[in-house]
Amino acid sequence: MMGRQKRVQRKLFYTILNLDQRVRKDHILRKVKNYIDFDFIYNEVNDKYGINGNVSVPPSVILMMMLLLIFYNVRSERELMDTIPERLDWLWFLGYDLDDEIPNHSVLSKARARWGVVAFKMFFERIVWQCVQAGLVDGSKLFMDSSMVQADASNNSVVNKQSLKRYLNKSYQILESRLEEEQRSSGSDNAVKSGAADRKYISTTDPDASVTRRGKGKSKLQYQIHRGVDKKCEVITATEVTPGEVHEAHRMQSLIDSHQNNTGRKVETAVADSKYGTIENYLACQDRGIKAHFNSLEETQKGTGSKKGIFPKEAFSYDDVDDIFICPAGQILKRRKYFKKRKHYEYIASSGACNRCQLRKKCTKAKSGRTLKRHVRQDDLNFMLDQANGGEAKKDIRTRQHLMERSYARSTRYGFKRARWRKLWGVQIQEYLTATIQNMMVLISNIKEQATAWLWPRPNPDIRERV
Ligand code: SF4
Repeated sequence: MMGRQKRVQRKLFYTILNLDQRVRKDHILRKVKNYIDFDFIYNEVNDKYGINGNVSVPPSVILMMMLLLIFYNVRSERELMDTIPERLDWLWFLGYDLDDEIPNHSVLSKARARWGVVAFKMFFERIVWQCVQAGLVDGSKLFMDSSMVQADASNNSVVNKQSLKRYLNKSYQILESRLEEEQRSSGSDNAVKSGAADRKYISTTDPDASVTRRGKGKSKLQYQIHRGVDKKCEVITATEVTPGEVHEAHRMQSLIDSHQNNTGRKVETAVADSKYGTIENYLACQDRGIKAHFNSLEETQKGTGSKKGIFPKEAFSYDDVDDIFICPAGQILKRRKYFKKRKHYEYIASSGACNRCQLRKKCTKAKSGRTLKRHVRQDDLNFMLDQANGGEAKKDIRTRQHLMERSYARSTRYGFKRARWRKLWGVQIQEYLTATIQNMMVLISNIKEQATAWLWPRPNPDIRERV
């Protein structure tokens, strides 16, 4: 017999409603609550609150709200607060009752400004450490890559700092001094290193973002996310945010440091793509006893630009006894001068020899003849390059591509591709929360029993002392 819907008469009082019973046993938020300690935040932000005055929303609840915001990729904080009373599972997760008053959406932005990036960094590091303790991190091999994130600012907000207009319009001068002041006060290492203040184009709504272009697309206001991922369970062990213009090669050593600090394990092999293959990175890895499994940047640019159609460096043989190069025409190239900044010597044949040479067209386009460069630590460099061209390195480089693409692809479900908040510190907070959620998912799906006592702090937080 067909049932019919009765006319709904809303009850005013429910006497047997228990939110805990309404949330299913295998609900993902139940697992999050079981395994993740949000109460650590009380100690972390203790000094950010006064002794007197209005009682704040508990910091642990605020942190959980931010987690919901990213985890469910809610469009805005206002929408999150509007949705909370409608979702029993969210109410249960946050510890609210059906008739509890939900805070205003502004508590989240105020908390971010009050706590700063450090609180979220600590949250990220704690979850990484939980993954280490659960045996989900090997730690000896670190895979690295970077990805662009679109800033929360329109391209229409970009102004040309050097434009004549700014000298004619007083409001431009006021704006410029405000932007420069903001950059100085942010005190960010990345902002300083990126030379943000010297940029020609700058956004008036998000001055930390930089106008960058990758591939054939249009230039956009972007940030760059740099990540280090461990292979065993694909836990993100290190992450950094910089303006889009920062070259990823410059962040390699700090990613290795963060990984070692966060996991307590020494990196034995660094795996990355050829953009990381600079002389500085090879030699830094050599100094630290790390195998460099990444192709040389110089190697990938061989035969392009001004080098197109001319003899490669390998066509010249080096005589280490006399410190000379012998060219394909049998002429000698002698050491001429030293470039202090780049730490290499320049070698050149006598100008007469190159002028008379029949191979000249295949060798050089320079009027003064062919020159070659040799780094002061060329032997170390050659050793590292041989290692980078070995079979093990090639296998790792292939693995890296899929592993890193997966890590960033998973982030897109948490709204990774566009910044929610402005300024470098805002994007850093978003990235720490996104990476934390990804690691949390790894932890929850791999752990067998409920953990009760995670060891914190790490036994020796600064592993750099030991490795
Ligand atoms: S151009 Fe100069 S360096 Fe090149 S092959 Fe001829 S002599 Fe040698």
